[in-house]
Amino acid sequence: METIYIPHLLTKLERKEVIDFEELIPDLETLTPVRGRLQVTHQGNYLEVKAKAETIVTLTCHRCLKQYNHRLKLQSSEIIWLQEKIDIQNSSSGEFEVDLEDLVENLSPAGYFSPSDWVYQQMCLELPHKQLCDSECPGIDLNDDGAETESSKTLSDSRWASLAALKRQLP
Ligand SMILES: [Zn+2]
Repeated sequence: METIYIPHLLTKLERKEVIDFEELIPDLETLTPVRGRLQVTHQGNYLEVKAKAETIVTLTCHRCLKQYNHRLKLQSSEIIWLQEKIDIQNSSSGEFEVDLEDLVENLSPAGYFSPSDWVYQQMCLELPHKQLCDSECPGIDLNDDGAETESSKTLSDSRWASLAALKRQLP
């Protein structure tokens, strides 16, 4: 997705740009390209960004450490204020307060908006905090299948098989 020069949006019909995309987002490790639609509207003193997108990511289960694929869906909207950065150097007292507004996303009205970066950030927020391959995931299986006998375990597990082979080589 190409970076949008914010003043350019003012020349567009309804001051908005709609982008349909299907592409890999830099730094976002996904199994499939991110597919979706993003809409940016210039509302005078702010940008309104809306997007709907999805992709598939490979995650590692926090319980059993196996990798599994997870469909990541995004449906979000955000207001990005258009204002020049407040020059802290102007403060004569030498101290400055952190205004709550500074913590809100904002861009320079004569600057650029990067749809890719925005989708990247939103996708990262959508990543599940608790990553489980299955809600019923039993965790790391320490004793294989408890019902199995020792001999069948020897046959089914290659690690035991190689150990057995090693044993046979010993005098
Ligand atoms: Zn698991």
